[in-house]
Amino acid sequence: MKVGVPKEIKNHEYRVGMQPAGIRALVKAGHEVVVQRSAGQGSGFEDDDFVGAGARLVDTAAEAWDAEMVVKVKEPLAEEYDFFKAGQILYTYLHLAAVPQLTRALMDKKVRGVAYETITDAHGGLPLLRPMSEIAGRMAPQVGAWSLEKANGGRGMLLGGVPGTRRGRVTVIGGGIVGTAAARIAIGLGAKVTVLDINAARMSYLEDVFGTKIETLYSNAENIEKYVLSADMVIGAVLVPGAAAPKLVTETLVQGMKAGSVVVDVAVDQGGCIETCRPTTHQEPTYIAHDVVHYCVANMPGAVPRTSTYALTNATLPYCLELANKGADAAIRESLAGNGHLAEGVNTWDGACTIDAVARACEVDF
Ligand code: NAD
Repeated sequence: MKVGVPKEIKNHEYRVGMQPAGIRALVKAGHEVVVQRSAGQGSGFEDDDFVGAGARLVDTAAEAWDAEMVVKVKEPLAEEYDFFKAGQILYTYLHLAAVPQLTRALMDKKVRGVAYETITDAHGGLPLLRPMSEIAGRMAPQVGAWSLEKANGGRGMLLGGVPGTRRGRVTVIGGGIVGTAAARIAIGLGAKVTVLDINAARMSYLEDVFGTKIETLYSNAENIEKYVLSADMVIGAVLVPGAAAPKLVTETLVQGMKAGSVVVDVAVDQGGCIETCRPTTHQEPTYIAHDVVHYCVANMPGAVPRTSTYALTNATLPYCLELANKGADAAIRESLAGNGHLAEGVNTWDGACTIDAVARACEVDF
């Protein structure tokens, strides 16, 4: 099968859909891979790295899109819709519910859209979303520690302290993938860490993993108030699947926090769980409200494209190989007959929208 890897064109998107190791694996399996020139530059890959792995370089996006399967990172933008071809597999993050015009374009052009974000695993998780949550979670204490520095608006505190001084207190709300990764790094930096969640099994897991290095607490209004007001850093990491994040930290609570303390609302991409948060960008990641530094970047992994590209493409490659080796029809048929995890990724197929929630959000036929 011919596989194309175009350069991403979304603003400040530096990741690329495939790393050289992935190309090597596809080529070894007998496939042809074309990569748009400079597609990997933002992630630290030179064109020669791709050529060395067996890819052929092409100069234009049109040539990279002229393939049976196109592997990307972000959803196509309007200027890419003209490249779509009937029967083509498009394997990427799609987030179609938010872009009805893309859903319609994929249906009109009969593209087989396989979305990273809806592929499932045996544990009920979303294995191709997980790496980005791991990254955002690990970044959260790091950006929060920077924000605690005086020159950055913070209270001038070293998170881990030094012998004879108080350590910083970090409150993590939501102990899922992001929250667990954030707790791990905050502990490593020497902070006193408390994680609040409503899922008892998740809190048991956290205590099994971290022992007495963290405290877990049931997330209710009383505990949130107490642990937000006493924190030097609050990390918002809540997710209610399919819904906007609940506003668990009110503006009044933020007003009551110590001057120069920090909130990092990782859940900002779902609307945020801290009432005073509004989305920011990597250009201007923080702002100060009620004397509290707010970091609310909605695409945190974009700051570390080299790590993000490796983490993402490590996770996407096995499904990519399955689609290429078996062909889309056989791969999806076999998936449906078995565990269905890859088939869950199909969002559009030969003119139909195959996900009920997407069809409703985009007002197209299911
Ligand atoms: P997850 O499903 O693994 O974890 C969410 C956790 O929130 C669960 O443990 C759940 O029990 C808990 N929760 C739900 N309601 C709660 C409440 N009322 N109080 C406390 N905890 C509650 O999700 P995740 O992968 O960790 O993602 C968390 C959020 O981070 C999501 O909104 C995700 O989209 C976002 N995210 C943002 C970025 C970014 O760049 N900003 C990157 C990756 C993920």
